[in-house]
Amino acid sequence: MARSEGSICKLCLVCSVIANLFFGVNLYRGRRGLWGRNWSIDEVSIQGLSWSGRAAAEAESAAARECSGHGRAYLDGVVVDGRPACECNNCYGGPDCSLFLPSCFADADEGDPLFLEPFWKQHAESSAVMVAGWHRMSYSFSDQTTLSQELESLLRKLHSLVGNAITDGKYILFGAGSTQLLSAAVHALSPHNSSLPASVVASIPYYSLYREQTEFFNSADCSFQGDPARWKNATNTTGDIIEFVTAPNNPNGQLNEAVLHGPNIKTIYDRAYYWPHFTGIPSPADEDLTIFTISKLTGHAGSRFGRWAFIRNEEVYQRMNMYLELNTMGVSRDTQLRALKLLKVIIKDGGREIFEFGYKTMTKRWDRLRKTLSMSNRFSLQKVPPENCTYFQKVREPTPAYAWVKCEWEEDTNCIEILNAAKILGRGGSIFHDDHRYVRLSVIKSDDDFDVLISHLEGLVSGKDGAKIM
Ligand code: PMP
Repeated sequence: MARSEGSICKLCLVCSVIANLFFGVNLYRGRRGLWGRNWSIDEVSIQGLSWSGRAAAEAESAAARECSGHGRAYLDGVVVDGRPACECNNCYGGPDCSLFLPSCFADADEGDPLFLEPFWKQHAESSAVMVAGWHRMSYSFSDQTTLSQELESLLRKLHSLVGNAITDGKYILFGAGSTQLLSAAVHALSPHNSSLPASVVASIPYYSLYREQTEFFNSADCSFQGDPARWKNATNTTGDIIEFVTAPNNPNGQLNEAVLHGPNIKTIYDRAYYWPHFTGIPSPADEDLTIFTISKLTGHAGSRFGRWAFIRNEEVYQRMNMYLELNTMGVSRDTQLRALKLLKVIIKDGGREIFEFGYKTMTKRWDRLRKTLSMSNRFSLQKVPPENCTYFQKVREPTPAYAWVKCEWEEDTNCIEILNAAKILGRGGSIFHDDHRYVRLSVIKSDDDFDVLISHLEGLVSGKDGAKIM
């Protein structure tokens, strides 16, 4: 009897070792591991993990969903047959996104930075975040602030590695997207209780949000006044002027500089695109108020860890901080954790991999776009001068996030109409307060979006795609 109990024990031990080896090997085989076979979540038991195993399995189950390379499934997506359904790229449909919809519009309207999605798929393991149910439930961090010190120091380190901003001696603030920080900056730089509101200006073509936001919030302290050119040669301007300088500029990619200078001029530098994906980095920004965003750096526009600002002046910092505290009490702590994780991946090799990936992808896209549009004299693209890039240590062609297309033929006075007729969606010049002859086309969306855009443009320049050719 004792002998047979011993044998059973030995058998159990052997089984347990085999099971451990099996699950252990699966765990370390990474992505293919658990989901090489369709394990149900209840079958999952990952060695060494307690509460997080099931969450990890759930995340991999959604990520492993086959969407034919033209879509992806998200953990919080609509559930069909017990699993999150595929969400297809534009122009693809069907349950697994394998259906190409040939009569669809190419959508080059939004600045959705999905061109970086393949990079993050290649770094699935290092960039994934596991959030415990009790993660940072408190209003504040243990130092009573609303921002992660670790994230702050990573951001400063990243700028010093890339060489695109001097952060020493500057205060830092986090915001939830541009709406919040840009608006906080305008608030902080406007005079308070003055009978003369500040004039907010931006060079044409400008990112429409500056005007929309200033007008929507309708503060007594400031009003939007359009292009700064009209003040350029004015000798006695009264009242404060707040100039937005967007460098590189949205929509045309130019490295804009401030037009106005003087004691009553306050400048907000919007450097959303000042990263090696898009432009050479001739020198680090060293301005009184500079705003960056993760949206166009890592591509995580949806995380709404929109922005961070470096501010030299303490009073301006305090006023912006007050705005953010009263508005949202800081940025979501969950989002800060996600941003931290993403930045760690980038910083590991000094940004080499992501910036080389971004620059290469953008260069290929611009080559295709130039080649396509050069097939006719109907359209032209903006010319942005080459820049010295201290990061890549070479002079390089800019690869802006947007093509600023001009309709050159005399009769094509409304360029967006010409493109719409060829089933291409973009953003008309008037939205940027410029001429109707211009259209902005986004170059930073998914590979599928870009392929469809090129195919529709080819049809247009060759006269095959509905739009008349002369
Ligand atoms: N500034 C500029 C110049 C932009 O183009 C954009 C995005 N289109 C933003 C700000 C918005 O950035 P965020 O996603 O951080 O709100």
